[in-house]
Amino acid sequence: MSPPANRHPTLCWQWISALCAVMGLTACELMPQADPAVPHRSLASFALPSAEQACFDREREPYTAVVDAHFHPRPFGGPAMPATELFELLDEQGVRFVNYFGIGQVLSPDSGCTYYLDCLGVPANPSIKNDVVNAVEVTTFPHDQLHITLSMTFVDLAHPEQAARMVALYDREFPGLFRWAGELNVMKQALLGNQHEPATRESIDGWAPFMQILRERNIPVTLHADLGNDANPTEFLYLMEHVLERYPDNPIVWAHMGLSKELTTMDANTHVALMKSLLDRYPRLMLDISWDVLYNAYHQWGEVFVPFFNEYSTRILPGSDFVAAGTKTRDQYARELEVTSRALRVMDDEAFRNVALGENYFRLLQLDYHAPFICAPPAAAATP
Ligand SMILES: [Zn+2]
Repeated sequence: MSPPANRHPTLCWQWISALCAVMGLTACELMPQADPAVPHRSLASFALPSAEQACFDREREPYTAVVDAHFHPRPFGGPAMPATELFELLDEQGVRFVNYFGIGQVLSPDSGCTYYLDCLGVPANPSIKNDVVNAVEVTTFPHDQLHITLSMTFVDLAHPEQAARMVALYDREFPGLFRWAGELNVMKQALLGNQHEPATRESIDGWAPFMQILRERNIPVTLHADLGNDANPTEFLYLMEHVLERYPDNPIVWAHMGLSKELTTMDANTHVALMKSLLDRYPRLMLDISWDVLYNAYHQWGEVFVPFFNEYSTRILPGSDFVAAGTKTRDQYARELEVTSRALRVMDDEAFRNVALGENYFRLLQLDYHAPFICAPPAAAATP
């Protein structure tokens, strides 16, 4: 069985969608992969101007993103995968650009817990611990094929009073190293059992000093802000709206487009209409489409989401939301990256270049890297 060509994204999506719906996710995992004879592109290749890079062949090169803009190198508790092993994992998958997101909220070390949902009642509080370990590891171990963006994940959005002072501490200890903020939790329902205190309108107003620092440094902030839940899909929308009204000039990335395990049945058209209206009103807002939970809950609505991704392709970032707990096996990252990249596979060429090949990421961070152009289809190339 051969897949339809990538040049027909809608048809392709329908085909994958129908297959997955009928046969389950295993069928999707059996989809043909990239040509293993084609090597991954080097980090240095992205430093060349787009026109000087080999064009990207979507038929033969991987559809998994070269950017992972939502990656947690350390777990909520317990041991993490060793740093050098993580670099290898990312390298093996052709990921060249990665955001190191804490995890910010850590379970107390004496709890013996690795995952918060297995330890209800144990507090998971924002902390600088993992940021510090990440910075030390990234500056200690070589990683020639990886551009790592360190992120500040310590901010307690319900109690932001110390945040600006803490940024000054980071500046002293790690000058210029932290170029992102988040993932920070505005409202994460899944964490409420671990004493997570959601932000309020008042505490959001109190973010002003550190949001000013981020704005002046062009540091994006990724916010986990649950839109709602299945009983009330927009229960917490007012929080994100308040953030956007209060800080319209900050580059803000809305993690998971507000979706979550608690919100898996929202009407796709309603969700997309809401996202479009916010993207139109707030030009600095971007959406991150990370987390396999989104694919699992919403892939049957590809005919709604994929045209949206294509239309707003300059506003989307890819990510795995992988959490590198030491208990995980090496192939789990590849699996999560693949699942979270399935939407990329069916985007049109322009959207694929913007999202999967890094153009949005480079522009947002003002990095001196460039996405390659997509190769013209063979038929068009042969036309005189
Ligand atoms: Zn995350």
